[in-house]
Amino acid sequence: METLDPRTIMLMTTLMCGAMTIVMFSVYRSFRREVDGLGHWAAGLLLLVCASLLFGTHGMLPDVVSLLGANASLLLGIGLSMLGTEKFYGQKPSLRFYALACCLGTAGLAWWLLVRVDFSVRVAIFSLTVFLFYARQAQLVWSHGERHFSSLFFGGLMLLQAVVVVTRGVSALLQGGVSLVDMLAAGTRASLYLAAANFMALLLTVAFMTVATRRLQTILERRSTHDPLTQVLNRRGFGDAYAREKAKLRRYRRPLTLLSIDLDYFKLINDRHGHAVGDQVLSHVAFVISGALRESDCVARFGGEEFVVLMPDMAPHHALSAAERIRTLLCAPNGQGLPPCTVSIGVACQASEHEELEQLLSRADTALYQAKEKGRDRIEFDIVGLTGACAPSASMVS
Ligand code: GH3
Ligand code: MG
Ligand code: MG
Repeated sequence: METLDPRTIMLMTTLMCGAMTIVMFSVYRSFRREVDGLGHWAAGLLLLVCASLLFGTHGMLPDVVSLLGANASLLLGIGLSMLGTEKFYGQKPSLRFYALACCLGTAGLAWWLLVRVDFSVRVAIFSLTVFLFYARQAQLVWSHGERHFSSLFFGGLMLLQAVVVVTRGVSALLQGGVSLVDMLAAGTRASLYLAAANFMALLLTVAFMTVATRRLQTILERRSTHDPLTQVLNRRGFGDAYAREKAKLRRYRRPLTLLSIDLDYFKLINDRHGHAVGDQVLSHVAFVISGALRESDCVARFGGEEFVVLMPDMAPHHALSAAERIRTLLCAPNGQGLPPCTVSIGVACQASEHEELEQLLSRADTALYQAKEKGRDRIEFDIVGLTGACAPSASMVS
């Protein structure tokens, strides 16, 4: 079998890595506000490309440029990827550790390349430094990554890289280079080793893209289902939550209760204190409502100053207590200097499994209007649905 020329392998990988770097930079430009760490990953990949190009000049340029330059570039690039991963998972980048590792690593490589020439010590220094960068990333994915294929792929790759480099580094120390492969030597074994190492660089890019894409997907999904001001669900997110709960209701025959909550005289708050304070009041109200509910309950803001709460598996009298809790909490001083506000609440229970969300909402709104008409700052029940919910209709039981 013809042996692949190491420089050809390197050129191919450099070109592919270069293309991936362009992709990563364009992702960074588009989503730098949404996803942290993309810039560091892109810059890290660029340094890997530089390292690959510098390796390619081995024999043509002095070793201090080709070998030392390439190794330093690799250290800086892989270290940058670690900083990017730290930022990606919301951690403070360990800049001191990065600078120290890169400086000591490069100084050691320079000493054993230019002063006391020793290939195996160089391999050991390089491998053990890089091991720290990969191990830190594997640990970050382990402790902060979501349980999803993208994290599994990213974390698995980091772990594999860490194991490979530490094995190479330790064997360099123990065997003094007997079993080491010089990456740029010709031969099948050297070519395979080089191809594997460069393939890893490509996989690394794919791993960055996989976790970044997953993060973007999560962000976009959240944006389409949540209200940006209060961070509770919007109408669409609420519709999805209702559909899920209704499916459970069909299966388990449990009561489903809905609260329609509207702030009283909110226009006056806007007029007296300004729109910005009005927004703060809305966020505070959303916070208080969410805090007063169970994990399984859903809160949504349907635009304006109207909130809706869905309470699965909640008997009407318990829903009434929850509504009263919300009303009382909102009356209490908020401790943030925000103007006081009261709410009116309409309560309705799912009458049958055939009832649609619009009908349920309309009944809760009818109760809400009654609360407004009766003087505000109070709770009203929709009696029609209540009768159905207390004594499940034939259609719900059948
Ligand atoms: P009522 O007791 O009858 O509900 O009176 P209200 O003043 O609360 O109701 P109205 O419908 O007259 O006024 C609602 C106000 O809510 C008018 C609008 O300017 C304000 N509003 C709607 N959306 C927002 C928002 O996102 N932020 C702020 N600050 N105000 C908003
Ligand atoms: Mg209002
Ligand atoms: Mg309103």
